[in-house]
Amino acid sequence: QSGARVRRAHSKVPQYLERGVDVKFSDVAGLGNIRVELEEIVKFFTLGEMYRRRGVKIPGGILLCGPPGVGKTLLAKAVAGEAGVNFFSISASQFVEIYVGVGASRVRALYQEAKENAPSVVFIDELDAVGRERGLIKGSGGQERDATLNQLLVCLDGFEGRGDVITIAATNRPDILDPALVRPGRFDRKIYIPKPSLIGRVEILKVHARKKPMADDVDYVAVASMTDGMVGAELANIIEIAALNMMRDGRPEITTDDLLQAAQIEERGILDKKNRSQEMWKQLALNEAAMAVVAVNFPDLKNIEFVTIAPRAGRELGYVRFKMNHMKFTEGMLSGQSLLDHITVQIAPRAADEIWYGEEQLSTIWAETSDNARSAARYFVLSGLSEKYHGLSKFWVADRINDIDIEAMKLLNSCYDRAKEILRRNKELVDVTVDRLIEKKSIAKQEFFHLVEEYGHLEPMPKSI
Ligand code: ADP
Repeated sequence: QSGARVRRAHSKVPQYLERGVDVKFSDVAGLGNIRVELEEIVKFFTLGEMYRRRGVKIPGGILLCGPPGVGKTLLAKAVAGEAGVNFFSISASQFVEIYVGVGASRVRALYQEAKENAPSVVFIDELDAVGRERGLIKGSGGQERDATLNQLLVCLDGFEGRGDVITIAATNRPDILDPALVRPGRFDRKIYIPKPSLIGRVEILKVHARKKPMADDVDYVAVASMTDGMVGAELANIIEIAALNMMRDGRPEITTDDLLQAAQIEERGILDKKNRSQEMWKQLALNEAAMAVVAVNFPDLKNIEFVTIAPRAGRELGYVRFKMNHMKFTEGMLSGQSLLDHITVQIAPRAADEIWYGEEQLSTIWAETSDNARSAARYFVLSGLSEKYHGLSKFWVADRINDIDIEAMKLLNSCYDRAKEILRRNKELVDVTVDRLIEKKSIAKQEFFHLVEEYGHLEPMPKSI
């Protein structure tokens, strides 16, 4: 009797199941080899039994880290879509309720459904909403959150190594997660998804253009150049706005002009949201001045178009536009030395923060550029450019991953020292650039080079290697 009742209760319509998820990896663009890592997850579903028999550990959960709109949800859906399994999703902010126990019971229900409909992907958006370090929030709200988090940990442990229910979570704040969440067997795979590069933006625009009547001669590179700092969600929006434009004018095709106009509309919408404090302007100015002053020392990067802290689409921070070697970049002809210079520039804001504000007061304004530096350093090692792993050439050998990180870290440290050295030597130049930036928000090429001439102490141009 009671057994039958239980079964009936469980076979009710699943609440968290998203039907008709038909996303494929080909719908996700501009992520480079991040996609490869996710493709591996698909294999856990399709070849799970084989993996288990050979004693290969199946990851407990995958944590996708990155700013909003870069495609984290899309990727999770693509994993389910490619593997042909069910997709369950919830936003962790839905877990957090006023009444103690509600959140925890939702977590239980979610996993119950996922298990009954296995194989499945469980996607938890905004994990930080519930995954903040326990005990930090006082009062009953805190207790409720802790209870929910504890339940989540129990559920994650229940599926460890089984491979028929895989949890993918998304967050923009991996740094504030409870350490228990990222322990082995839980979210033990962290994948960072940065904002797309120029080439990434071209690819994303093209993916969204697939189903639209585009003119044959659309210049995607021009649109991508205009949209520096924008994420996939914003780029998808641009295509939609452009399509509306075309419809309104009664034309049959979307043109480059439609897209450029749409980009401006999208950008203005974002600009309206900006509002900064005096302190923020100052820190931004130091950030950008440091990058520009370091860059001007390097042959491939010294060609600076402008330095600005004026708000720009999709970017919280400022902006130094290098008229650098996009050609070299796309053709993979960037020399090892240029890449090191690039890393040094990206790490410069952090070095400047240490010099100007002292170790104690490090802000986090440079987090984005430091991330760039980190991935570039890894790329350097993986491309077989480092001394230790010369010629390794992207061979992703699992047991070397640790060594690769150590090697990348060494590289970062030496770039950091180099940035500090250049900044110390050019303290005055940085200071006047900061003042000028705060006053005018943007400095054009000519003006910046006047300052460099007057106050700069440049490195003698090195022989390239
Ligand atoms: P996130 O989960 O990181 O906030 P989403 O996956 O929800 O971002 O992205 C929202 C939408 O933006 C997607 O449904 C898709 O249309 C578009 N988009 C975002 N990133 C990409 C990408 N890398 N490639 C193609 N489209 C993207």
